[in-house]
Amino acid sequence: MASSIVLFGPPGAGKGTQAGNIVAITGKPQISTGDMLRAALAAGTTLGMEAKGYMEAGQLVPDDVIIGLIEERLTQSDANEGVLFDGFPRTIAQAEALSHIAELSVVIAIEVPDSRIVERICGRYTCGGCGAVYHDTFNPTASPGECDDCGHTEMKRRADDNEDTVLTRLSAYHSQTAPLADWYKERNLFVAINGDQDIEKVGAAISSVL
Ligand code: ADP
Ligand code: AMP
Repeated sequence: MASSIVLFGPPGAGKGTQAGNIVAITGKPQISTGDMLRAALAAGTTLGMEAKGYMEAGQLVPDDVIIGLIEERLTQSDANEGVLFDGFPRTIAQAEALSHIAELSVVIAIEVPDSRIVERICGRYTCGGCGAVYHDTFNPTASPGECDDCGHTEMKRRADDNEDTVLTRLSAYHSQTAPLADWYKERNLFVAINGDQDIEKVGAAISSVL
């Protein structure tokens, strides 16, 4: 399999927002474990039921569940030329498992201070049709309630995008996910991007890395 990219950062950093641009540049499909888990939950599968409690509480879903999900996803033919991982890996155990199944070219870390995260996540909404990501203040749709990309008129908010759950998710990020930064720095794969600037500027900084 050709090399893959990891999009890394705290919840609300802007990974999903920037993913479309990276997919357009590299042609690699986006694999978001959060999106896959939400789809499983909506479909009422065993996986979705297993993940539900953890997601609602803002805790990480167990490693074996996530690793199994990724292993299965990587067997699909669109992954043959490498993929863009979004929201995975989130623990050292996940990174170790990934090192045995995929080669990485770069880990792009979108860095945003904690003080910005709550306002970003609590203002987030997405298009129910195409999944485009918006924000009440920082990136609203041009016409209220209508997706700029596909014209769909049903917007969604995530059940876990509330202040209490965000604080638990941030705490999980600092204790379980942030240590991966050093892990990838030791392997010379880590590139940090300042995520505390306009969406376009973050996109330009990422494009220059690619
Ligand atoms: P993640 O995928 O890392 O959880 P998202 O891409 O969903 O984060 O972004 C979280 C929220 O912050 C969304 O509402 C999005 O519109 C907004 N956002 C993303 N990037 C920026 C930015 N650079 N400046 C301000 N708001 C942003
Ligand atoms: P996200 O969409 O990336 O914000 O993820 C939403 C939720 O899904 C997280 O709070 C976790 O409960 C779960 N999740 C997503 N990706 C992972 C992962 N790689 N490891 C463990 N849990 C995950």
